Parts: sequence; structure tokens; C-alpha cells
Amino acid sequence: MTRYVYAFAEGGREMADLLGGKGANLAEMTRLGLPVPPGFTVTTGACREYLATGAEPEELGAQVADALAELERRVGRGLGGRDNPLLLSVRSGSKFSMPGMMETILDIGLGDESVLALAKATGRERSAWDSYRRLLQMYGRTVLGIAPELFDRHGPTDDPAQLVEDYKKVIRDATGEEFPQEPAEQLYRAIRAVFRSWNSERARLYRSREHIPDDLGTAVNIQVMVFGNLGPDSGTGVAFTRDPATGARGVYGDYLPDAQGEDVVAGIRNAVPLAELDRLDPTSYRQLVAHMATLEHQYRDLCDIEFTVEHGTLWMLQTRVGKRTAEAAFRIAEALVDEKVIDEDEALTRVGGAQLARLMFPRFEAHADTKPLAHGVPASPGAAVGAIVFDSAEAVRRAATGDEVILVRRETTPDDLPGMVAAEAVLTSRGGKTSHAAVVARGMGKVCVCGAEELTVDVRARTLTAPDRTVLAEGTVISVDGTAGTVHLGALPLADSPVGRFLDTGERDGVLTDAVARTLQHADSVRRLGVHANADTPEDAARARRYGAEGIGLCRTEHMFLGERRGLVEAMILAEDEIGRHAALDALLPLQRADFTGILAAMDGLPVTIRLIDPPLNEFLPDRTELAVRVATHPTVRDRRLLTAVERMHESNPMLGLRGVRLGLVVPGLVEMQVRAIAEAVVERLRVGGDPRAEIMVPLVGTVEELRIVRETAERVLAEVSDASGFTVHCPIGTMIELPRAALTAGRIAEAADFFSFGTNDLTQTAWGLSRDDAEASFFPAYLAQGIFAASPFETLDRDGVGRLVRIAVEEGRATKPGLKIGVCGEHGGDPDSIHFFHDTGLDYVSCSPFRVPAARLEAGRAAL
Ligand code: PEP
Ligand code: MG
Repeated sequence: MTRYVYAFAEGGREMADLLGGKGANLAEMTRLGLPVPPGFTVTTGACREYLATGAEPEELGAQVADALAELERRVGRGLGGRDNPLLLSVRSGSKFSMPGMMETILDIGLGDESVLALAKATGRERSAWDSYRRLLQMYGRTVLGIAPELFDRHGPTDDPAQLVEDYKKVIRDATGEEFPQEPAEQLYRAIRAVFRSWNSERARLYRSREHIPDDLGTAVNIQVMVFGNLGPDSGTGVAFTRDPATGARGVYGDYLPDAQGEDVVAGIRNAVPLAELDRLDPTSYRQLVAHMATLEHQYRDLCDIEFTVEHGTLWMLQTRVGKRTAEAAFRIAEALVDEKVIDEDEALTRVGGAQLARLMFPRFEAHADTKPLAHGVPASPGAAVGAIVFDSAEAVRRAATGDEVILVRRETTPDDLPGMVAAEAVLTSRGGKTSHAAVVARGMGKVCVCGAEELTVDVRARTLTAPDRTVLAEGTVISVDGTAGTVHLGALPLADSPVGRFLDTGERDGVLTDAVARTLQHADSVRRLGVHANADTPEDAARARRYGAEGIGLCRTEHMFLGERRGLVEAMILAEDEIGRHAALDALLPLQRADFTGILAAMDGLPVTIRLIDPPLNEFLPDRTELAVRVATHPTVRDRRLLTAVERMHESNPMLGLRGVRLGLVVPGLVEMQVRAIAEAVVERLRVGGDPRAEIMVPLVGTVEELRIVRETAERVLAEVSDASGFTVHCPIGTMIELPRAALTAGRIAEAADFFSFGTNDLTQTAWGLSRDDAEASFFPAYLAQGIFAASPFETLDRDGVGRLVRIAVEEGRATKPGLKIGVCGEHGGDPDSIHFFHDTGLDYVSCSPFRVPAARLEAGRAAL
């Protein structure tokens, strides 16, 4: 016979699968001898069966009846009895905490007669009626599915007994049945209602977001009610074994005298600090502190606790490993190591990369919560305050005079780079986490909120209009929260980040930075994955190195073709003859060589993977419409020629057009120029005794033939530079795998590649057929809300689809070339969840923007445990 019911005394915290988290913890406290109001748990198995078949298991009724009889015998009272009636709470509790997502029904057992008995037994008539009123309300809503408003329509009244009559009528009118006076019926129906609440819309949505499997089901905890609202010698509270905000040791919490638990949760009355209980009821306080020590010892972690004091008797109602801030997580984990409670491996499991990332940036002070002007995609974390400007030139101009500015655009293009560098933050109304603004801002560690579609950006009128129609002119000060994805009017107060300072300078200033340093050191000692950075400038490279990067996994050379160099690129692409093109390429060569020399110097002794140019063409050519207007109004020969050329090269879908390796194959001399610049930079570094480790990476390859041709050219140029310089220039030549075809033919491609690096941004874009620039802001919100995506596939790697392509490419690439070095340099390289996947898939390294390097080190360490 399957057991569906366990008394608290029969379980333990290792039984969370069966008893749910709450039930397992109640059992644990009971086993430890703590004063837990007695009760029993109906298992998740019973719920699963109910959900699968629409009926509870046959044996359940009898098992609940037995458990109830035993409970009544134990406490010497009858459920809903006429003399000091026993009342029960019925609460959901799944394996993973789903706060507030499922149902709770309190005061089961009350009815027209027992309410009088309760009033008599407690001497509190009003509270007895109020409890009955609450039962009717919860039961009506949860068990009978009556709209909650029907119970809220009744305003506050002085007479809860009258409200009871009103609510009974609501139930009668809505269902045609009377509220059941039979306590057992109330109980059974409440249990079923809790089962059903597993599949409520909000519970399903919560699970999809939190990656909680849908098939676990909830347990149901049935427990003797105790009352904290029976006078000054009663009360209720919550307690933490350490401060969940800072992690400091000590006893923290709130106490509410003469009140019930819901009053605390609902914030109906002001609580007093827990220490006050010591004054009010020293015996209960001392017991509570002792129980807290017992629990922390048992759980080896911060516990949070709910308790009630009923006429001077302390009851423990709930405990669990407590939620905490990022700061507290690091401090507590390392404190527990010092206290010899856990080891460093376990400490590493107690923190996460997302928490570290949160600690790295300045943030708005906690009390600075103002209502946001608008919401967008939290694309690059941190907090910034500044005056809004609408173009790059204005950003540069104002910043040069010492102003702090926020660059506001509909979306950014490579042309905006100087403005992005000058600004404190970037705000766009379009685009998602892999839009240009997001990727570039993240790379620079700039705050960025993008895709704030509620905002209207009018660059011509130089105004920003908020959804409430507030119109902000250029120069208006706003605050941008890149962690929360919000925009606020005015200057919110900023708090500095000691962890950010530590990671940048190595300066430790207290317990928190010590804890972060130790955790990272341990992560580095256990991780197998290398952590490289995506960086395009010597400054970014140097910063990445300070943050612990072990190389550059992606240097995007197209980022070096911007600003004043754009004219040269334009000339190169549009050149009508060899002479013009060579002139443009010759002018670019020394500039590129200097770029590479700087980066190789900053990363001396470490690999630097330089990717050949990969621009969507539109980003490098003048805007067709603007040019057409110019030609129509002030025609010049140059502009006319330019327009003809731009029209000739116009593409409706540049992301799938002449970019990546394709550009190198159709623009003669381009690959030669870039490879020569790399090779000559290597020689320059060798000449001064450096240890340059340049690698050449070819983007957007779809077939091995493309790679073969580029490789031949590159090898020829490397040989020429070697001959001419007298230094042997050796650069491994590899490819990005960022098209499904490349992944599926990786076995062939590996024949011509010294390494692979997954470009998961493009691989996601092309595998899903989703535009990385548009999709996040357009329909992703609807997809997330409907649970089709648990997270954006541009943020967290889609393991089933894109991940499968990655696995195939790793397997087939290494079948051709055992030991082939493989990394990833798409944005997923810095995403905690994806890093675990890359570890499991056998990649050699991940590469991410410099500011994500510390979190990536941490996650790579966790993945290795
Ligand atoms: C990618 O596609 O994942 C990648 C790293 O290249 P980019 O973002 O420059 O297209
Ligand atoms: Mg790409």
C-alpha cells in the first residue's frame, strides 16, 4: 500500500521530494525536539495522482482520517469540537519554494457552533468570529472558486459576526450550496483545493520562470492552529539566524505582540525588533534563540523562522534556509568556512555569478526607490545619473566640459561609439540584450537600458517623451538603473561598490571584499574552463586582465574601423578600381597594426584571438535616405557616386548579407591587409622582447571552402612577413562556428581550422530565425509572459536547439582533430547557466565582456564541482 500521509514525527529534511520543503522542515524541527504544533503531511505523490486522474488516490481518505484521529487523540481535542475546538491550517508546500503562488486555508474546523466554543475557550469573542470570517473568505475563494472581489465588497465593519453572515450568503448565492459545517468535509475539500492550486496560472508562470519542473506536485501540510492574538502574552514573529541583508552574525527579526502571522505578512501593524521579545517574554525569547542555534547547526546555513507565542508558550511554525542579499551570501558562506561548518567547495555552491555581478557596480541606494519613468531591458548593470543628450557629438562635447551625460537614442550604431564612451549610460527605445547598444555598453562596463519601448525618442526635436506624456528636453537629468532596467526622472543617490573597486585594483576594504576574494580564489583553483574576454582596445584588454581574464577570446576588428576611420572603410568598400582600394587599405594598415600591437602588449604571454572584420555592411555605409536627401538638395559629384554605390550594395537583410568571411572574399586585399597588420604587430612585439600570442579567427563561415581560401591567403601573408622580418610569425588560424551549417559540417570545417569559437549570438539568431536586433523588444515580452521562453535565448543558451548544434560541432570537430581547442565568444559566454552547459559540453574556455569575467570565473568553478 502506498503511503500518502506522514506525521511530522515520521519525516525529515531529506524527504523534500515527498513532503515538500515546508513539510520536510516541519518534520526536521519535530525530529530535533523543537516545539512544533503537531500535524501531518499529505505527500506530493498524492497530488500528482490527483492531477493526473482528477481524483485523489483511493487510500488517501482513510489515511487522512487515521492521521486526524491520532492528532485529536494526541492533543485531546476534536476537530471543530464543541469544547475548546481543534482548528487546523492547510498549507501547500512544494519541493522548491514558490512563495505565495499556491493556496493556504486557515481555521479549518470552524462552524456555527464551534465558533462559540472557540470564543468561550479563548475568552475572545471578536477574534473567534474574525477567524470564522477569514475561513469563509479563504474557503470561498480557494475551494469554491468564488471571485475574491465578492468578499472584498464588504467594507470594514465593527461586527465580524455580521460579516460571517454576509459571507455565508455570498457562498450561497455564488454556488447554491451552504458552507459545510462538517469539519472533515472542510478538510478534504481544502486538501483538494491545494492540489489544484499547483496548476493555477500564477504557479505555472512562476515555475516556468524559475525553471521548476511542472510535474513535481505540491505536498499539503495539515497542522494544529496556534494563536498569537490571544492578548499581551501572545504574539507572532519572524526571525533570522544571521542578518539576511548583510550576513552579519546575530539574531534578527520582527515581533508583533498580540497578532496572527498574516498580520505580519500583510504589514497591517508595525512590528517591533525581535530583541523586544526579550523584554516582553524573556523565557520565550531565550528558547527561541536556543532553537535558532540548533537549526543553524543542523542546516549549516542561515535559517529563517516563523514562530508564534500563545499564552507564553513558544511554537515554531516554519523554518527554511533563508533568502539573502548578494552581500550576505558571500559573507555567510565564508563565515561558515571560518566557523568550520562547511568547506570552500560548499561555500562556492552557496553563491552565484549573478550575485557577484550585482555587487560589482554602483547602485542606487536602497531607500531611493522612486516610481520609474519607464522600463526597458536591463542590458548592462549598474546605476548612473546624467543629463540626457541625443547624439554622440553632443555627448562628447558636454562630457569634455565635465558634464555627466546619458546618451539617449532609438538604437545605436557603430557611429555612436564616441558618444557611448563619453556617456555614463546608454538608453535606447529599441533592441534587446544583444543589440549593438547592449553588447558595446556591456563590453565597456557602461550602464545600459535598451528596448525601453514606452519612451518616444525624437532626435530631431531633441525630446524624450515618457508614457505619462512628460516631455524631457535635452539636458534634463535622469537616473538609469541598468540592473533593474528602469529609468527615473532626476538624480537618485548613488552608492559606490567596494567589490567593483576590489576587482579593479585588488584593494580589500573589509569582510565583504575578503569573502569575494577568497571565493574567487577557490573558484580559480577548481575550474577547468578557461575564462577569456571580448575586448577590442588595449584599455579593455588591460582591464580584462585585471579582472582575471586569461586571454582575449574575441577582438572584433570592425570596432576598430569606426570614427574617423570610417571614411577609409567606406572608400575601400566603394572603390571603383584597384588603385583607390589599395590606397584605402594602405592607409588602414598602420592604424590596424598599432591597434593590435597595443592589445598584444596588454595581453603579453596570453592568447589574443583577433577576428577578421565582420560588419553588417549597412553599418559602414552612409544612410541611403539621408544621402538621397542630400543629393536632391545639394548635389555633388561625390555624393552622387556614393549614392549609386550605396544603392548598388543595398541589402534588405544585412545581417544575412555581405558580412563576415563573405566580405573578405569579395573585397580584394582586405584579408591580406588585416593579416599583415596582425603579423607585423607580432613582429613589433617580438622585436621588443614581448611574447605575443595572436590567433586569427574567421567569422561567419558556412562551408570549409570559405575557410580554406582565407587560410591560404593568411598563411601566404604570414610567410611573407616572416621572411621579410626574420622573425617566425606563427598564428593559429581558426573559425567561428556561428551558422547552423557550420555546426552541422564541423567535421569538415575542422580540417582547415586550428580552433573553433562558437558565436552563439549569430548561431541563436540563425538557428531560431530570430533577429537579434529586433526580437527581444518586439515579441519576447509576450513569449516570456506565456511561458514559451523561460528566458531569452539570446541571454541563456537554448540547450535543446542551439545547444544541440554546439554539441554536434564539438563532437564532430574533435572527431576530425582530437584535442581541437574550442571556446565560445557569444554573449552566452558570460551567462551563468550557459557556462555550466559549456563546461559539461567539454569546451576549453568561455569568452565574455571584461566586466563579466569575475562572474564567469566563479560560475566556471561552480560548474566543476
Ligand atoms: C556571435 O555571433 O556570437 C559573435 C560573437 O559575433 P558578433 O556578436 O560580433 O556577431
Ligand atoms: Mg557573430
